[in-house]
Amino acid sequence: MHRIQNYINGSFINPIQDNWIDNYCPANGEVYGQIPNSSKEDVENAYIAAKSAFPVWSQTTLEERSRILIKISELLEDNLQGFAEAESKDNGKPISLAISVDIPRAASNFRFFGNAITQFASESHESVGQQAVNYTLRQPIGVVGCISPWNLPLYLFTWKIAPAIAAGNCVVAKPSEVTPMTAYLLGEICNEAGLPKGVLNIVHGLGTTSGQAIVVHPDIKAISFTGGTATGIHIAKVTAPMFKKLSLELGGKNPNIIFADCDYKDMLDTTIRSSFANQGQICLCGSRIFVEASIYEMFKTDFVKKVKELKVGHPSESDTNIGALVSKPHLEKVMSYIDIAKEEKAAVLCGGNKVTVQGYENGYYLEPTVIEVSTDECRVNQEEIFGPVVTIMAFETEDNVLQMANKVKYGLSATLWTNNLKRTMRMSNQLQAGIIWVNTWMMRDLRTPFGGVKASGVGREGGFEALRFFTEAKNVCIKY
Ligand code: NDP
Repeated sequence: MHRIQNYINGSFINPIQDNWIDNYCPANGEVYGQIPNSSKEDVENAYIAAKSAFPVWSQTTLEERSRILIKISELLEDNLQGFAEAESKDNGKPISLAISVDIPRAASNFRFFGNAITQFASESHESVGQQAVNYTLRQPIGVVGCISPWNLPLYLFTWKIAPAIAAGNCVVAKPSEVTPMTAYLLGEICNEAGLPKGVLNIVHGLGTTSGQAIVVHPDIKAISFTGGTATGIHIAKVTAPMFKKLSLELGGKNPNIIFADCDYKDMLDTTIRSSFANQGQICLCGSRIFVEASIYEMFKTDFVKKVKELKVGHPSESDTNIGALVSKPHLEKVMSYIDIAKEEKAAVLCGGNKVTVQGYENGYYLEPTVIEVSTDECRVNQEEIFGPVVTIMAFETEDNVLQMANKVKYGLSATLWTNNLKRTMRMSNQLQAGIIWVNTWMMRDLRTPFGGVKASGVGREGGFEALRFFTEAKNVCIKY
């Protein structure tokens, strides 16, 4: 059985206590490898390696850092197929998605921050009349922690690591225990690209042991975390007395608001994607669909028809639209919400059942599910399900839908379908979310701020926001 190892100080090593965790393939439910169940001693070793690498890396020229990051990006592109297959096998996502989205985006993350660091500038302020000038240094923090979830494994892992190392920090990182494989492969690429030893250290294991050890480490001064809101709350609590810098990208329950004046076909096609891409396991999925009453019945008919056409199948098949959910416990959690919907007397318009894929009977497959709700206040409309399950309901007025859209604890993204410019402006101003898409979904420009409000998190990633997070501002005031 294939065992992956921790990547510490440029080497691949076993966990000190020789403890291992089984790694399951979601497509067939079988164990196909083992990963280190790292302890806090492994995290300490990773920290020591990062600390030793910091003095040199933080003084490495921006051109050299940029060159290495871009080399990592190129090597990821060269190894696209292998990485995509590993991601699909580990996570259950369709191979087509890993090839077209996950791995290219991981490569873009390195390329983008490799370029961005050469353009990153700080401010200066002349104190007119006082014969003084202030300039602000943006210095790397030191050793930082990056912890990422399982839904977009390499995509989100590198979204943190790339800006952290571009800014001159050294990193102790932990991918999700459920999807460790591409993070493991990344270590090899980093060595090949010439990333100095210790700049990036990857520790595998459970959130509650190795993740927790990173979070509470007294000398890891900043934590960039993407994951569930409950874990984010825990991290915020334990790090508050340590005054750590925190970036928390957490859960979402995003509204997809459809007005009758939208481009209907474009909206319908995109809504299929925004509902079910990656089995609905994207924090940005529009899982609450609100449709203007005048087109509600038409939308309901057309949407359900299209959803029924989606093919649930083995992730390696090129025509699969919906692959396997990431794990058995997650499948059970998602299915429990279908039961809750029934208890709440909501109507399951399609889906709701486990799918048996021939030859892979123990895989974690679920039909894409559409639930018609009569009130926005029911649990399926309020709680993050994070699977191929959406709710739909009609609305009458702009005020009415705005109120419902904002009446959840989350505030990550919102999608708006309308051709009315004034309405677009009004609604975009008032929707409580960090990201608003109008007549599109998940269109990304890596320069833009990315993050949520309310229980969806604290801080922003992306562009210079990420470089600001991974640096400390220091003002120098010189009197002349
Ligand atoms: P979790 O919060 O369970 O886990 C995220 C990561 O944190 C994993 O690596 C996990 O390890 C680790 N972890 C768990 N407990 C601790 C702890 N006590 N200390 C330190 N690390 C810990 O989230 P999921 O992996 O289940 O991911 C799904 C969630 O992520 C959803 O809520 C989704 O909305 C959110 N998400 C948010 C995004 C955003 O940008 N806002 C983007 C993508 C997802 P382990 O896997 O071993 O438990």
